[in-house]
Amino acid sequence: MSDAVLKQLVEMSRYLGSPERTYAILGEGNTSARIDDDTFYVKASGTTLGTIESGGFVKVSISKLTGILDDPAANDETVTRVLKEALVEPGETRRPSVETMLHALLLRYPEYKFIGHTHPIYTDMILCSQKAEEIVAERICPDQIVVMGHKSVYVPYVDPGLVLAREVRERVRRFIDEEGVLPRAIMMQNHGLIALGDSARAVTNITDMTEKISQIIVGTFSMGGPRFMPAKEVDRIYTRPDEKYREKQIGV
Ligand SMILES: [Zn+2]
Repeated sequence: MSDAVLKQLVEMSRYLGSPERTYAILGEGNTSARIDDDTFYVKASGTTLGTIESGGFVKVSISKLTGILDDPAANDETVTRVLKEALVEPGETRRPSVETMLHALLLRYPEYKFIGHTHPIYTDMILCSQKAEEIVAERICPDQIVVMGHKSVYVPYVDPGLVLAREVRERVRRFIDEEGVLPRAIMMQNHGLIALGDSARAVTNITDMTEKISQIIVGTFSMGGPRFMPAKEVDRIYTRPDEKYREKQIGV
């Protein structure tokens, strides 16, 4: 079971880190996959997504990582200690990625099994722009809705690590309360994308679509700017039975 998960995680990570996709370079981005209720694999700090092997992942405990989110006294030292204590394999010397807490809090939702966090170029053009929040709130074509859902979560820039993990947790909770569904994409201002799914394929599909749509939106600014879809049309696509069928076939 855990070997099959790891194999899919390696393939997904290499796909996302492949140089021609420009989603992540050097040590950028990180990926994870849940093994059971409390354990998951996450990229070890300093490894490269595009060339990662199974040895590039460490096994960590969800419950040991999420307690710190409610500890008001937690600081940088606490984070270092918790990341170390969360390692499941005895004698493990590698460190999990600094964004491991983010993965842990999201993998607590049973619907998510794979997560891919990347810094795609066009997506980051939008997320580093003055219009980031406004653009993330909109939908521009039906295929975007089929793959990415009718809305994404927007997270303003905050200190990476613990503060960011708390902010993401809060924003995701609010999204679920308001929309009644789990988000498929989280867009972090001045940072990048988190794609979430119950399969590795869902994560690569969501990442591919996010980046393609971002490229289209950036391009529209040379022709008067984007023409977003009216909310009524977005809802229509999101709820149409044939589009739900297409969603299933695509694997998101
Ligand atoms: Zn990042």
